[in-house]
Amino acid sequence: MLEYAEAPALSRAPGQVLVRLHAAGVNPIEAYVRAGKYARLPALPYTPGVDGAGVIEEADDAGLAGGRVYVAGSLTGTYAEEALCTPDQVHPLPDHASFEQGAAIGVPYATATWALFKRGAARMGETLLIHGASGGVGLAALQLAKTAGLRVFGTAGTPEGLQLILGNGAEEAFNHHEADYLSRLKEAVGGDGFDIILEMAAHENLGKDLPMLAKYGRVVVVGSRGPVEIDARNLMLREADIRGMTLFSATPADLAEIHGRIGAGLVDVSLAPVIGTVLPLRGAARAHELIMAPGARGKIVLTM
Ligand code: NAP
Repeated sequence: MLEYAEAPALSRAPGQVLVRLHAAGVNPIEAYVRAGKYARLPALPYTPGVDGAGVIEEADDAGLAGGRVYVAGSLTGTYAEEALCTPDQVHPLPDHASFEQGAAIGVPYATATWALFKRGAARMGETLLIHGASGGVGLAALQLAKTAGLRVFGTAGTPEGLQLILGNGAEEAFNHHEADYLSRLKEAVGGDGFDIILEMAAHENLGKDLPMLAKYGRVVVVGSRGPVEIDARNLMLREADIRGMTLFSATPADLAEIHGRIGAGLVDVSLAPVIGTVLPLRGAARAHELIMAPGARGKIVLTM
């Protein structure tokens, strides 16, 4: 059960940063954890949320107070009016980015960066399919890949999602509910097929992805909600790879590099988080229903 409640004010220990939050990002993992369907579960009661944005209220360095930041991870949870963070969980948020956009950065952009460049080993000029490009991770990956000079194709399940994908720079967008979209995708990319596929729904698509790969192609499994059947022969002739990923693998040094890249993209505006739905903090339970429902159109965020 997810319930809105008053909690005592947080007090900062040395070495911590106290952030007054204005917005929190909602990610699917928070719904899995709330439902008890995840490998790592917190002790109850707990405050959900890892992403947020706001203003530094207190830090060891008093000069940091008042700075606008996005939060990627916290010690106390971000579905709240304030959060305690370690200094490396707090990153500058440029003035031109809203707090809602700041709350949409952490998990989606870090996951997309890791999937694309670490696990996918993406290079300029390669072809990329983002299978599920209308949500938080997909749109982040689309912006990152365009900036890195890839040819990007994406899928969504609604006309609004397709428009979003095209508006964020995809060469073409396809509806993953249409019967013939796989053959049309393969035709659109031409050549041997895709060098990389970022897969948001491997339980539905992994078997369909493999025949769309080019030689030495890679599928990076970002999301999967169950078992799936594949024909491994589709990997053999292509010398192709299926690569899993979890952001939990990223070390503090990896995360510093990831957020350095994201920070540069926020400053030069090549990265601009897309907000689909804004709900008040009291609406967190509704946000969890929406994040598990079809029809993504960017991020769902909560505002305080
Ligand atoms: P989201 O905002 O809810 O977006 C979900 C995306 O998946 C939407 O684009 C949605 O499209 C698409 N989708 C739904 N059914 C699909 C299908 N049959 N084929 C292709 N795409 C489909 O979620 P998110 O934050 O982007 O996360 C995406 C997935 O990655 C989730 O499963 C999440 O748990 C996982 N994830 C994994 C990691 C990790 O470390 N491995 C980190 C973050 C997220 P429509 O709604 O338009 O149909």
